[in-house]
Amino acid sequence: MPIYNSQQLELRFQLEKFLSDHIKPNAATIDEQQFIPRSFFDLLAKHHYLGVAIPQKWGGSSYNYVNLGLMHEIFGKGLSSLQNILTVVGMVCKPLVRLGSDNQRKLWLPKISTGEILVSLALTEPNAGSDLNEIETYAEEKGNFYILNGVKKYITLGQIADLFLVLSKTDNGFTTFLIEKSTPGIEIKPIKNILSLRSNMLAEIKFNGCKIPKEQILGGVGNGLSHVVALALDEGRYTTACGCVGLAQSCLEESRTYASQRKQSNTTLDNHQLILKLLTEMIVEVKAAREVCFNTGQLRDKKDISYISETLIAKYLAAKSAVRVSYRALQIFGAAGFTKEYSIERLYRDAKAMEVIEGTPQVYEINIPKNYSDI
Ligand SMILES: Cc1cc2nc3c(=O)[nH]c(=O)nc-3n(C[C@H](O)[C@H](O)[C@H](O)COP(=O)(O)OP(=O)(O)OC[C@H]3O[C@@H](n4cnc5c(N)ncnc54)[C@H](O)[C@@H]3O)c2cc1C
Repeated sequence: MPIYNSQQLELRFQLEKFLSDHIKPNAATIDEQQFIPRSFFDLLAKHHYLGVAIPQKWGGSSYNYVNLGLMHEIFGKGLSSLQNILTVVGMVCKPLVRLGSDNQRKLWLPKISTGEILVSLALTEPNAGSDLNEIETYAEEKGNFYILNGVKKYITLGQIADLFLVLSKTDNGFTTFLIEKSTPGIEIKPIKNILSLRSNMLAEIKFNGCKIPKEQILGGVGNGLSHVVALALDEGRYTTACGCVGLAQSCLEESRTYASQRKQSNTTLDNHQLILKLLTEMIVEVKAAREVCFNTGQLRDKKDISYISETLIAKYLAAKSAVRVSYRALQIFGAAGFTKEYSIERLYRDAKAMEVIEGTPQVYEINIPKNYSDI
């Protein structure tokens, strides 16, 4: 474990209590139903978990990065869908806080903190995922408005969000717009029965000639990719990395318990050296990923310039570790791991998605060498 100070230990304790009181007892049902009820978001708001990226003057709880990492690790232990939804909320809040106009901040941030509205980040399209330069959504300037047409796909919370942060092409490059669900011309088609993160409430969102007032531009015309999305993705990489640590920790804890109880060849599994090897690899991977995430959180809090590239490493390492750790966990459980009796099958499914969201391993394998040319 990293050396936590007393305030971090206290936060850890509170988060673990929320995990055991509210997340663990409901995780299997939420996954099965592919839906998180609004009442659960009210509960998150009551505990101030929706406003962690929002300064207190707008009703938020303004966590520093180490604390934010702790929250995502512990939510990741319980249910990765829920953890990822909080990642998305943070990815919308961060650019809104940093680049939003006073009116935008005053209007939306308090409502996000209290759970009055839920927010979504709409980047991906049928023909543009890893390379967002290829998006086809286009907003044409018409007087004081833009007319927006396009399709966004795989949008977390898309089924129920009230406000979308949408990346579009405009004549001056890429621009992001804050668009309310009630805007005429929006069509929402739920995407159901996905393999992993089943309660993300994904949707495809079509914008058919939506008329968007210019004051709904976030961060200025032409700054959509270079400023707004860059900030959002950096934030999302960090919290996703921490969520992966939690997921892997859960696999490890469940595997240790199971291996200490299940008997084969007259002894428990954890007396077999080959099982101990699997557990050793899991322990080492969880510990390494946690240390890297904690170090990254500290660098982010210090605003040390290296934090952006360290965050790339943290996400790459933690997501790959989560996949490997969940694979070993499933091995230890044997057939039992494939059933709903244990949470390993869900952890195994969810781990794979953590590798894809907020950048695939291949994208990191292109970017990490570029950012570390001096090593
Ligand atoms: C559960 C879930 C939730 C999501 N939530 C959101 C959301 O809230 N908002 C949103 O905008 N999007 C969301 N997404 C979409 C996600 O961001 C994309 O899936 C991701 O960016 C990858 O894009 P893609 O799926 O189009 O894959 P593609 O970009 O088509 O890639 C396919 C494969 O090719 C590889 N590849 C791509 N380019 C290269 C290259 N240059 N060199 C080598 N290999 C390459 C990739 O690594 C991958 O293995 C979500 C996806 C999932 C699964």
